[in-house]
Amino acid sequence: MPIGYWESEHLLAPADLTIIGAGIVGMSTALHYKAQHPAQQVRILERDMLGEGGTTRNAGFACFGGPGEWLDDLKAIGASRWLDLIRMRAEGLRALVELLGEEALGLEWSGGWELFDRSEAGVARACEVEQALPELNAAVQPLMASILGHLVPHPMDTPALVHAPERAAHFEAHAAIHLPWEGMLHTGRMVAAFHKALHAADIQCLNGCTVSATVPPEVAGDNWSIQTARGPLLSRSIALCTNGFAQEILPMAAVVPAPNRVLVVSPQQMPPAGAYHIENGYLYFRTLPGGQVLFGGGRHFGIELPPFPDSDSAAESRWDTLLEEAATRWLGPLDAVSHRWTGWLGVGADREPLLGSTAPGFHHAVRMGGMGVAMGCGLGLQLAGNIGRETRPPLQQ
Ligand SMILES: Cc1cc2nc3c(=O)[nH]c(=O)nc-3n(C[C@H](O)[C@H](O)[C@H](O)COP(=O)(O)OP(=O)(O)OC[C@H]3O[C@@H](n4cnc5c(N)ncnc54)[C@H](O)[C@@H]3O)c2cc1C
Repeated sequence: MPIGYWESEHLLAPADLTIIGAGIVGMSTALHYKAQHPAQQVRILERDMLGEGGTTRNAGFACFGGPGEWLDDLKAIGASRWLDLIRMRAEGLRALVELLGEEALGLEWSGGWELFDRSEAGVARACEVEQALPELNAAVQPLMASILGHLVPHPMDTPALVHAPERAAHFEAHAAIHLPWEGMLHTGRMVAAFHKALHAADIQCLNGCTVSATVPPEVAGDNWSIQTARGPLLSRSIALCTNGFAQEILPMAAVVPAPNRVLVVSPQQMPPAGAYHIENGYLYFRTLPGGQVLFGGGRHFGIELPPFPDSDSAAESRWDTLLEEAATRWLGPLDAVSHRWTGWLGVGADREPLLGSTAPGFHHAVRMGGMGVAMGCGLGLQLAGNIGRETRPPLQQ
């Protein structure tokens, strides 16, 4: 169906900035940009009715990773890049709280725990963490205090990592490390708060709108031309925020979609409230407000799922069986599994996000890995700043 007069003249008139993807990154880019440029037209195009990536399907850990995962990162990318990653997560979380408010996010500073099981690998990893603990604390504690100290209700000198033998005993684990600066938020409330803020800021959000390609101004005229099923939409600038799906529009982006499965289970005995990392962050669980436990992860199971939107129920069921076995090991017998779903991460060779620009007026922030709740809003802030600094005159409407 072609675009009609009222649509092209008003509803779908050229925008100053069009953001592709209504995840945390896209929505926060829109809000930050509009706050800096209130007179400009900002539009978001999202192909799903809510979002098909990670933003409405994540676990809601307001976290920075755990020591097991940090040791892997330290080996892989060195101390300076590893610390930059932690800083990015903490700054992103601060930006999210400042943008939407703790209450709207349902954020609780509950603390997190990394648990090490009694397997040979679990004991060996706990031993490595034990040796590195003073060094990790010395590097991470000042970051937490300076970035989150005014938000988190702890004394400023609270360490980043603390031995928690009583938590290890509760889970019959070999060891447990407490992460006092970590929190949990309510993902549904976070997304609802974004929607409310977009509406209040007069940002147009068009759902059910898949972008198939973008055509640059030198070919299309004065503006970028964004191809949709309803025809081309024009925009002065574009921000690509499609995370794991970025290659569909920007084939050179070094990011691929990776599935993650999540269950909501009812254990016969509830664990102490909090967020838990296990098996180097490949598995995780957290308590939910309604007295259930969200249990997810399992990328290390090595089970392939077909690319979205296809599904393979046999593979999903194999994945879920392994997750249920792990949930039973950690939580004891389960009465029920009430929800099962897949969410899509954007991953690459390392854990750092990709933020940049590939042509005048074409910007991107993608590859959030498993930490986009923490990092996403900070990346949106940076992306909005990058777009604003580009000297492209706004549209004359
Ligand atoms: C199961 C799971 C648990 C997680 N748990 C946590 C956690 O506890 N803590 C944490 O920090 N992070 C977590 N994450 C990661 C976090 O959710 C993501 O990193 C974050 O949501 C990414 O946000 P985003 O805006 O970059 O991308 P997304 O949320 O993936 O949004 C991208 C959007 O782009 C849209 N899109 C794609 N292609 C097109 C197109 N061609 N046209 C129009 N729209 C398009 C998609 O529909 C999607 O809505 C988890 C992720 C998953 C999957």
